[in-house]
Amino acid sequence: MRFQETVPPVAPSCPAFTVTTVALERRLPYVAAMTQELHIVGGGMAGSEAAWQAAHMGVNVVLHEMRPKVETFAHQTGNLGEMVCSNSFRSDDDEQNAVGLLHWEMRQANGLIMTTADEHRLPAGGALAVDRDPFAETVTAKLKALPNVRVSYEEITALPDEGHWIFATGPLTSPTLGEAIQKETGAEALAFFDAIAPIVYAESIDMSQAWMQSRYDKGETEEERTAYLNCPMTKEQYEAFIDALLAADKTEFHEGETAGYFDGCLPIEVMAERGRETLRHGPMKPVGLTNPHNPDEKAYAVVQLRRDNALGTLFNIVGFQTKMKYGAQTDVFRMIPGLENASFARLGGIHRNTFLNSPTLLDAQMRLKSRPNIRFAGQITGVEGYVESAAMGLLAGRLAAAELTDQPLSEVPQDSAMGALIHHITGGAEAKTFQPMNVNFGLFRPVDGLKGGRRGRKDRYKAYTDRAKSAWTDWLKQFS
Ligand SMILES: Cc1cc2nc3c(=O)[nH]c(=O)nc-3n(C[C@H](O)[C@H](O)[C@H](O)COP(=O)(O)OP(=O)(O)OC[C@H]3O[C@@H](n4cnc5c(N)ncnc54)[C@H](O)[C@@H]3O)c2cc1C
Repeated sequence: MRFQETVPPVAPSCPAFTVTTVALERRLPYVAAMTQELHIVGGGMAGSEAAWQAAHMGVNVVLHEMRPKVETFAHQTGNLGEMVCSNSFRSDDDEQNAVGLLHWEMRQANGLIMTTADEHRLPAGGALAVDRDPFAETVTAKLKALPNVRVSYEEITALPDEGHWIFATGPLTSPTLGEAIQKETGAEALAFFDAIAPIVYAESIDMSQAWMQSRYDKGETEEERTAYLNCPMTKEQYEAFIDALLAADKTEFHEGETAGYFDGCLPIEVMAERGRETLRHGPMKPVGLTNPHNPDEKAYAVVQLRRDNALGTLFNIVGFQTKMKYGAQTDVFRMIPGLENASFARLGGIHRNTFLNSPTLLDAQMRLKSRPNIRFAGQITGVEGYVESAAMGLLAGRLAAAELTDQPLSEVPQDSAMGALIHHITGGAEAKTFQPMNVNFGLFRPVDGLKGGRRGRKDRYKAYTDRAKSAWTDWLKQFS
């Protein structure tokens, strides 16, 4: 690991990016007039993206990151843009999937997180999975290579009265800063639990029982079509597994940690508690797969593992977030056929997530209403996931840079995926029941004249994504 403690010379503007000479010249008057820096707190998905975007709009950026001096329980390096759990940015389908659409929009805006993810892509069927360490090292190196970005390794513990700031300190915002935010907002920060899925060493998996195949053989290449490792279960094995899950020792909540789970990230034992068949219709569904060791018999349930690094030495158990105690985890997971002798590189865990009641606290530009010199971005604003957090960083970076350089901007179009998300968190959502949100087509305004229900879904999604692409492309024109 290398950390830059020194201050690089700060240039008035950064000529990198895909900016044409004409575009740069048009921006120069703003840059020349600019006297202030933009401070960004937190070099995770959102803060890194915000810094990149603002720097490319000619603003001088100081990125404050507390790691490695102050650690979180989940981050393991001092890298910027570290992925703390899964190595997946989820679906890359920009026609039929809202998160894939967000990928597309971020790529159009030269997003740091997406373009770097593309450089470190691993085979994962229709998903965008990456080799996490080289990914974060590249994010760090790209930011440090910008002449108008300075990385300052320190914890920020208060909300400053002066200057322009973006706080992107994420679900694990340091406690002192969390207290300062609470003091300012007067609102209780809400909390819920995500759970980390376990990672298994590939060499410890019994391939005489498991096989490689993506569901429905999805993917362009052979590598993509065989991106997942599958472990089949008979009905008896599944029932015994559910019994063990229900009986396993779980981590207790600490006093005061009373918030509910986020539905998109339920621990498997909680899913099992909701019904014995729930897992068979969720992460253990047996559809779209044929076991080459036993092609005539359909598995009753299938556990899927996905490659976790480029070398192919690590696999994570897909969708198996858990809050079982470590001892119980190894006992229960070794009941899975093929994993009887599994060695675990990392076991699952639980964590707290801090987020603001954004619909009441933030304006449409993600500024704190009570202190407009401060913006928030990323997961702390109540979006959920790497992609959504980076997306809100992208917007915060551009909005802050435009403000600093007196560049008028039209409203982020609500029909784009970016616009649907920012609109939701800054006012569209019900403040009383506000919970973190993944991007999804439910956030989009309906397209008139299209059939509802399952039958019309394909056409509807295509119409949403076509409309979004056009709206986002138009919005980006004002930056060129
Ligand atoms: C344990 C865990 C597992 C998760 N698993 C997944 C997953 O599998 N998939 C997924 O999409 N999302 C997952 N998430 C959510 C994930 O954290 C977010 O999606 C994403 O990382 C949020 O991006 P962010 O930039 O808002 O926050 P982060 O990426 O967490 O970045 C915040 C940064 O701020 C720094 N920081 C905090 N306080 C201060 C301070 N006071 N001063 C200076 N720096 C500070 C932190 O060190 C960190 O680098 C998980 C979260 C946790 C905690």
